[in-house]
Amino acid sequence: MKCNRKRTVFDLLSVYTCEGCKHQRKDELIVIGNQVIAIYYLSDNCPHLSTDNDYLVLKSKKLSLLFKDAIIYNKQIMFFFFEEFKLEKHYELFEKIMDDGLSIQVISMK
Ligand SMILES: [Zn+2]
Repeated sequence: MKCNRKRTVFDLLSVYTCEGCKHQRKDELIVIGNQVIAIYYLSDNCPHLSTDNDYLVLKSKKLSLLFKDAIIYNKQIMFFFFEEFKLEKHYELFEKIMDDGLSIQVISMK
């Protein structure tokens, strides 16, 4: 974990990550029968790291992979993109979508 470490002249160009930090958000996979709710987070949501949302959207390899998945599997999954995702707000909608036989892919900025 290096996200809360103060930068010095010697590590200005180092990329600090949230690996092992208690604030780090991990992607979630909820399996219900043969369907899934897959929730992918684009940022670590850590208060120690500043996040540039434009950079996250434009430069994210993870996001482009997820978009490709959404296109390739568009008959099997319903795709959602949220600024900030909370499962409990969308549970009823997701339940109806899953009743129709689709899995759900969520991408959340934070
Ligand atoms: Zn952190």
